[in-house]
Amino acid sequence: MALILIVEDNPTNRMLAHVIVERAGHEPLATDNVFEALRLAHRHIPALILMDIRLPGLDGIEATRRLKRRPSTRDIPIIAVTAQAMPGDESRIRAGGCDGYLRKPYRPAQLLDMIAAFLPPMAGLPAH
Ligand code: MN
Repeated sequence: MALILIVEDNPTNRMLAHVIVERAGHEPLATDNVFEALRLAHRHIPALILMDIRLPGLDGIEATRRLKRRPSTRDIPIIAVTAQAMPGDESRIRAGGCDGYLRKPYRPAQLLDMIAAFLPPMAGLPAH
């Protein structure tokens, strides 16, 4: 079980991500506010962050830059989750320091695959 911070201002999308993360056995921590997200990230050091890109106040790319600048939060994997599909968006998102990129709308399995790709292997389970 891993703590996963969900940053998403759309209530439906936020609830969807919350349910998927929870059903996968992880602990979701969700907020619609990007500044609150920065505080939560510093305080709780989640195992992973799902970052919406279009957010009021500060976009997800700038929020990612700030997290990647700070030693305490820079190792947290950040997956950009966005409906933006303009040419060049993916490279702009990656240049901002996001570790992964998931386009909305996504299927639950796509989100779970993405999460699994960035979480460290479960401690205590035998490698095989
Ligand atoms: Mn948004």
